[in-house]
Amino acid sequence: MADETSQLQDSSESTTVVVIGAGPAGLTVATLLQHSGIDCVVLERHSREHVAQRQRAGIVETRAVRMFDSWGLTDRVLGGVPYDGILEFRVDGRSHLVSDSDGSDGPSARLCPQQILVQKLTQTFLDGGGDLRFEAADVSPHDLTGDRPTVHYRTADGTTHAITCDFVAGCDGDHGVSRTAVPDGALTAHAFDHGIGWLTVLADAPPPAHPLLAVNARGFAAHFPRGPYASRYYLQCPPDDHPDAWPEARIWDALRTRLGDPALVCGPITDRETFRLRSLVHDPMQYGRLFLVGDAAHIVSPMGGKGMNLALYDADLLARAVRDFVRSDDDTALRTYSSRCLRRVWNDQEFSHWLTRTLHDAGDAAPFPRHLARARLDRLFNAPASARAFAELMTGLDPTGEAVISQEVPGNLFAHGGD
Ligand SMILES: Cc1cc2nc3c(=O)[nH]c(=O)nc-3n(C[C@H](O)[C@H](O)[C@H](O)COP(=O)(O)OP(=O)(O)OC[C@H]3O[C@@H](n4cnc5c(N)ncnc54)[C@H](O)[C@@H]3O)c2cc1C
Repeated sequence: MADETSQLQDSSESTTVVVIGAGPAGLTVATLLQHSGIDCVVLERHSREHVAQRQRAGIVETRAVRMFDSWGLTDRVLGGVPYDGILEFRVDGRSHLVSDSDGSDGPSARLCPQQILVQKLTQTFLDGGGDLRFEAADVSPHDLTGDRPTVHYRTADGTTHAITCDFVAGCDGDHGVSRTAVPDGALTAHAFDHGIGWLTVLADAPPPAHPLLAVNARGFAAHFPRGPYASRYYLQCPPDDHPDAWPEARIWDALRTRLGDPALVCGPITDRETFRLRSLVHDPMQYGRLFLVGDAAHIVSPMGGKGMNLALYDADLLARAVRDFVRSDDDTALRTYSSRCLRRVWNDQEFSHWLTRTLHDAGDAAPFPRHLARARLDRLFNAPASARAFAELMTGLDPTGEAVISQEVPGNLFAHGGD
C-alpha cells in the first residue's frame, strides 16, 4: 500500500469549520457560516449532479422558513410554492381537513422538494464564493478532542489532502464517517423499530389538492405533492417486503383502494423502494470539536415530515454557536448545542411516533388499539384544543426546545487553537 504521507498535499490548508456532507444540513451550516463571514470548506462524497437529484422531503415547515427568513435568505434558498396549511385525513374514504398553519400573517411552510432546497443552497453558497468540494473520497476526521482537528480526504487523482480547522460539522447522514470517528461508548444510540414497512413510490402524476394521509383496513397510504406534476406515495407493507413484490398494477390498485379514490390518475413511476420505519437518536450530538448535525445524529420515521426540518434546526443552532464563538469568544451556545438540539429531537420523535401509531393502528390493528387510535383521530377532528396542539407541532412552532437551555458540556474544550 502506498505511504499516505508521501502523497499528502496542501497539508497547510486551514479553515474555521470543515463541513462533511452537502445535504440539507451541511449546505445550510455552510451557507449560514458564509453569511456570518466565517470561512468553511464543504467535503461531499458524491458529484454535484447526484446530490442535486436526491428526492426525499417535500415540505419546509413554518419554523424552518422563519429561520431562513431571520437570516434574510428565504428568497434565495427556498423554491417551490407556499403551502396552504391544510392537511387531509381520509378515514375509510371519508375526508377530514385539518389546518396545520399557525393562523398568523408571518411566513409559513413551503412546498419545496428537498432537491430544490439543495440545488438553491448549493448555488447560493457557490455564488458567495463558497468552497464546496464534490467527489471527495475517503473523508476522515482526526484529533477531534485536540485544539485543531484535521480532516483528510482524497481527490480523484489519488492525492490525499488534509485540512486543519477549529470545528468539524458532521453532516454526512446516517451512513457517513463522522459518527464512526467517535470512539465506542462516547455516544449512546437510542434505536426503535416500529415493526412497520413502507413502500414509497415517486411518479410523474398529478399532486393531491392537499397532502393526504389515508387510514384503511388494508393499511395506511399517503399521497404528497412533489412538484407541479409529481407525487410521492406511501403504502404500508410487511416490514421486510421487497419492491419487486409491487408491480405497477398492484401499486395503483392498492392506492385507489386505500385512498378511497377509484379515479386516482396514475403516471410513470420514476422510483420505488421499501424501507422499515425506524427511529434513532445519538446522545450527545457532539464529541470534542465534532458536532453532529441532521441525520448523522438522528433518524425520525417519516410520519410528520420532521427529518429534514430537524436537520435545518440543528444547522441553524450550530451556525449561530460558531458565530458567537468566533465573533465574541463566547462558547455558551457550543456547549449547549447538543442538549438544545436533543430537546427538539425528542419532541419531534414523540410527535412522529404518536402520528405513526395513530394512523397505522386506526387501520389494521387489533380491535382495542384500533379503537384507541380512532378516538385520538376523533379528538383531533373535533376538539379545537387538540387541533391547535397538532398545528403547533406540524409547523414546528411549539415552544418545546426553544426555552430552557439545559446541561452544558463540561471542560475547557473551546479555547482558541490559533493557526
Ligand atoms: C423516502 C424518504 C422520504 C422522506 N420524507 C421526508 C419528509 O417528507 N419530510 C422531512 O422533513 N424529511 C423527510 N425525509 C428525511 C430527510 O430526507 C432527511 O432527514 C434529510 O435528508 C437529512 O439531511 P442531512 O443533510 O442530515 O442528511 P443527508 O440528506 O443524508 O445528506 C448527507 C450528505 O452527506 C454525504 N456523505 C455521506 N457520507 C459521506 C462521506 N463519507 N464523506 C462526504 N460526504 C458524505 C451524502 O452524499 C449526502 O449528500 C425523508 C427521507 C426519505 C428516505
